[in-house]
Amino acid sequence: MFTYIFLFCWYFISFQHVLSESSDSDCLNSFSSLVCKKLANIHFSRTSSLIFNNASFTALSNYSDNFGHLLKLAPAAVLKPGEAKDIVKLIHFVYNFNSKIKNRKTKIYLACRGNGHSTNDQDLLNKTGIILDMSELSSILHINTNKLWIDVEAGILWLKLLKKTLKLNPPLSPRSWTDLLTLSVGGTLSNVGVSGQAGRFGPQISNVLEMDVVTGRGRFITCSPKLNSKLFYAVLGGLGQFGIIVRARIPLRTAPLKARTYTAVYNNIQSFTSDQKMFLNDPKKLFDYVEGSINVSSNPFTFTIELVKYYNNSSTLPTDSYLASISHFKAGSLIGVDSTYFDFLNRLQATVDYLISIGTWNFPHPWLNLWLPASNITEFYNSAVSSSNATLINGPVLLYPIRTNLINSQTSLAFPSDPSNVIFLFAILRTASPEPTAISAAEVDNLRLKTAAIALGGKGLFNVAYTKTEWIQQYGSKYARLSKYKKMYDPLHILSPNQHIFN
Ligand SMILES: Cc1cc2nc3c(=O)[nH]c(=O)nc-3n(C[C@H](O)[C@H](O)[C@H](O)COP(=O)(O)OP(=O)(O)OC[C@H]3O[C@@H](n4cnc5c(N)ncnc54)[C@H](O)[C@@H]3O)c2cc1C
Repeated sequence: MFTYIFLFCWYFISFQHVLSESSDSDCLNSFSSLVCKKLANIHFSRTSSLIFNNASFTALSNYSDNFGHLLKLAPAAVLKPGEAKDIVKLIHFVYNFNSKIKNRKTKIYLACRGNGHSTNDQDLLNKTGIILDMSELSSILHINTNKLWIDVEAGILWLKLLKKTLKLNPPLSPRSWTDLLTLSVGGTLSNVGVSGQAGRFGPQISNVLEMDVVTGRGRFITCSPKLNSKLFYAVLGGLGQFGIIVRARIPLRTAPLKARTYTAVYNNIQSFTSDQKMFLNDPKKLFDYVEGSINVSSNPFTFTIELVKYYNNSSTLPTDSYLASISHFKAGSLIGVDSTYFDFLNRLQATVDYLISIGTWNFPHPWLNLWLPASNITEFYNSAVSSSNATLINGPVLLYPIRTNLINSQTSLAFPSDPSNVIFLFAILRTASPEPTAISAAEVDNLRLKTAAIALGGKGLFNVAYTKTEWIQQYGSKYARLSKYKKMYDPLHILSPNQHIFN
């Protein structure tokens, strides 16, 4: 009887919500079992959830896979923190646990999951790992309409943030976006956050005023360009290596009402990219967004420029005849489409919903994202891309420029330099059939393109799985600085080991 009363009370005084507690046999091995037991003894906030392995593995199955659908790794446990303090407690526990052990094989690792849109194993961990699922830390904390900024918890999706700021009077909006809005603020700030607006406003990592970060030592630190600036810049583009972003302050501007999207087709890479650069560098800032893509369904490949002008009053829009007079696109190929500002920013959602409905959203995505210096873009295209097998590509191919002088070189982002201060993003967003041969054929093709890009001064971004040696090459002179920061902020190499940079 007393045992029952004790157990009953224990359940209710326990602060954490344990979704699926494990016994020894439930855990993958004795080590993860030990981790699970120790985690269960930490008093996380009432709004947090701990998820352990259970017999059917269902509770953890969402965390053993990501958008890439290329790898499956089951972690020991998942913490959904309800408050930033939970992250501090968790990292203290992991730090203390790891500092007491000598044998590296029994270390515990931590990886952060924003919205699981990584395509390799960046946000996955095996049985010695704990995943920090940031999805519950997704509140809007404060909006300052005088100083024009918004404070958000880092697990918030950009879509939710936008919906909130557009409801203000007057409607406000962040300046820099990604093509897809269902990515987390912490996830894109740890990578880059790039889209057609980056040419004008810089990527999202150039559009942050302040952050709260929990380092790999478990220290909660507020940082900005003036306060703890080393940590601030290390974390931006830092691939989760130096700390967990828990809050970000994002600058806002008055939101336009509408957007007109102009598309036009080109037959040749030189006129396509030189027009893109012209619009990018236009001192009159005619367009708010410059992107483009390679049409691999035509033979030979053609190119589509995508230009967007925000507006409130249509009389300020450039006319078709004016655009035709300054550009080199195929006569008659220019199309202009009007939409609300929100519908333009959220334009991919309908396609995503469709791909989900036909089941291919869950197919493997062996994506490749590269930066190329503008000076070598034609050579890269002619030597490596123009003869690519279109069937193997099976997805959109993006090609658009951004200006490097809008990226702070103190951030951790690796990007090439070019005398013109312009670099191109090249992305092959493949969907492969689930057969191993299809995936490996795509990966071989990615390696071919990556090798060609690196030989021409290019760099990888997002999901390019690098060995440590390749990371040293990727970061170049930045590697020494980043290694120093790793020692300062995550000396036991606990955070995001599957980026393979320092581990
Ligand atoms: C369909 C699709 C469209 C995309 N479109 C774009 C685009 O237009 N522009 C663009 O720039 N990118 C784009 N991406 C890439 C995307 O920015 C990255 O994959 C990003 O990591 C995804 O964010 P996420 O919230 O899903 O993060 P996750 O994939 O869950 O996490 C990725 C990594 O980020 C780190 N991380 C996540 N949250 C935090 C945090 N709070 N603190 C510290 N580190 C953290 C972790 O180390 C983790 O390893 C796209 C990806 C997909 C799948």
